[in-house]
Amino acid sequence: MRKRLREPRFAYRHGLSTAAYRELVFDWLRELARDGLGSAAFPRAYGGGGNIARFLAIFETLGAHDQSLTVKFGVQFGLFGGSIYQLGTERHHARYLRDVGTLALPGCFAMSELGHGSNVREIETEAHYDPAARQFIIDTPNESARKEWIGNAACHGRLAVVFARLSIGGEQHGVHAFLVPIRTQTGGVWPGVRIEDAGEKGGLNGVDNGRLWFDRVRIPRENLLNRYGDVTEDGDYSSPIANPTRRFFTMLGTLVAGRISVALAAQSALKAGLAIAVRYGASRKQFGSSEGHEVPILDYLTHQRRLFPAIATAYAFDFALKSLVGRFVAAIESGHDADAEYRRVEADGAGLKALVTWHTIGGLQAARECCGGQGFLAINRIAQLRADTDVTATFEGDNTVLLQLVAKGLLTDYRQQFHAAGARGILRYLGRRASARLARVNPVLARRTDEDHLRDPDFQLGVLRYREERLLGSAARRLKHRIEAGADGFGALIECQDHLLALARAHVERRTLEEFARGTDNAEPGLRPVLHRLRELFALSVLEREEGWLLAHGVFEGAKAEAVRALVNQSCRELRPHAVALVNAFGIPDEILGAPIAMAGAP
Ligand SMILES: Cc1cc2nc3c(=O)[nH]c(=O)nc-3n(C[C@H](O)[C@H](O)[C@H](O)COP(=O)(O)OP(=O)(O)OC[C@H]3O[C@@H](n4cnc5c(N)ncnc54)[C@H](O)[C@@H]3O)c2cc1C
Repeated sequence: MRKRLREPRFAYRHGLSTAAYRELVFDWLRELARDGLGSAAFPRAYGGGGNIARFLAIFETLGAHDQSLTVKFGVQFGLFGGSIYQLGTERHHARYLRDVGTLALPGCFAMSELGHGSNVREIETEAHYDPAARQFIIDTPNESARKEWIGNAACHGRLAVVFARLSIGGEQHGVHAFLVPIRTQTGGVWPGVRIEDAGEKGGLNGVDNGRLWFDRVRIPRENLLNRYGDVTEDGDYSSPIANPTRRFFTMLGTLVAGRISVALAAQSALKAGLAIAVRYGASRKQFGSSEGHEVPILDYLTHQRRLFPAIATAYAFDFALKSLVGRFVAAIESGHDADAEYRRVEADGAGLKALVTWHTIGGLQAARECCGGQGFLAINRIAQLRADTDVTATFEGDNTVLLQLVAKGLLTDYRQQFHAAGARGILRYLGRRASARLARVNPVLARRTDEDHLRDPDFQLGVLRYREERLLGSAARRLKHRIEAGADGFGALIECQDHLLALARAHVERRTLEEFARGTDNAEPGLRPVLHRLRELFALSVLEREEGWLLAHGVFEGAKAEAVRALVNQSCRELRPHAVALVNAFGIPDEILGAPIAMAGAP
């Protein structure tokens, strides 16, 4: 992938009109499809590579290149092709996957509607079964049901996976996915379909997002993607999952690859931005103690503080993402995509997607500012990467919504774990755990400021564990009080949303630190010292950010918070000699980085 993206055919072109940019991205997509990259995850029987891990690696690598190409690739092969593969059965695979993989059949994934983006369970597009004609009738009943934001819809898509509410003879069966043509072979709009361009966006303008309306469009019965629910010719419905809620969430679960992919690609975009900023910072000089002796801006503590914790966090997320990808691939390849481990992968994917994309957005802003005015020039790429990755916080699941799912999962596990003990048992247990940990952290430890202690990985991980457990326990208690005071489950959750988000973040960060430690232990011996420092800076920067909470809960005393701050400074200084090597280790070739300011001899 890296070799390919370095070729002149993938060279960046700045300042194109939206129409020209969309065509360039489509041409690039064709090139990748021609090289067999889009179908890497599809079965070999249908021209694919049969290797989901390879597909994810391709996507991750693409993320350092143009984000519009990355997203267009994701829509065509990941969302459109992936949903045919995951939600369809043999007949759909045989008929479509080869053409999806070669881009002979460009398509869309049409789930979101104007009225419902995050809450897709309430989408309103209708699919009525007509047994006489053995067809489904796809219909947009009102304006809020129009399909919104659909990638590939405005210009190139011919077929769409459309999510709609299935009804048979007046009986409702919930949301299902259907293959609905939107354009003819020659590019004309399909009868009964209306398409509108979504227009200019704040980024990703090489992707043709559009809106779709369906006016009683008839499709054959076979166009229902029927892995989780089928309809006979006579209109009898059956599903391997009896419970409609479970069925719906199982269907959504097949999309976990999309979330992992977005996190991988966002992380690659950030790495590109950090590599540009660090390399520029190492050569750009401003000010000095005497005239004519200016200092590289990367030597300034403020510069290091803006970039190095971000690099350390990117490394941390790398280990967490690699571990998650390994578990995801193992679950898919062993056919265990319906069991408990897969549910955990799904939740971990949601949490990491949220934190990784937020980190990308913040990190690219810092990288842009660290490059001064040069960072704002299009040819230096960071401004574009920042604009394009902004929306990763929203699509493939809004981050704020995803983190609530993570927190709810943690609370549910808790409840299940202590079901037998009952609520009082849980509270007793929580009290014991919390006080046991607190006893270890307090009061002597809260005051300890010596370096040995602050640099001890067990201390750092211990604090993150304590924070998570305490937030879990207090969230559970807070919810219980609300419910006892008469609130319903929904109302109680809303009153505790701030708490749930803090809990989810604490959980993801604790797990990420654990993965980082494991990754460091398993790394080549020569790499361990520098990885150890990065792991430490990641942990310390979380403690520094959370000092308010830690002080408020007696985990830290003032002197300790100050000592942590001083140690972050020291850690940054220690990493300075390694900074360029650390971003070069991201392995992004110069042609893909693209930015003149990142090259040797930059001004
Ligand atoms: C560029 C782009 C490309 C896209 N491509 C596709 C595509 O190809 N196919 C497709 O189907 N969809 C696509 N989408 C849609 C995308 O998935 C949705 O935008 C996303 O799910 C969020 O939905 P929404 O925009 O309606 O926001 P909303 O759900 O309305 O959210 C708005 C705000 O409300 C907050 N919010 C919502 N619910 C809660 C809650 N329970 N608690 C607290 N806060 C809440 C959110 O955090 C957010 O800040 C795309 C979107 C964009 C912007």
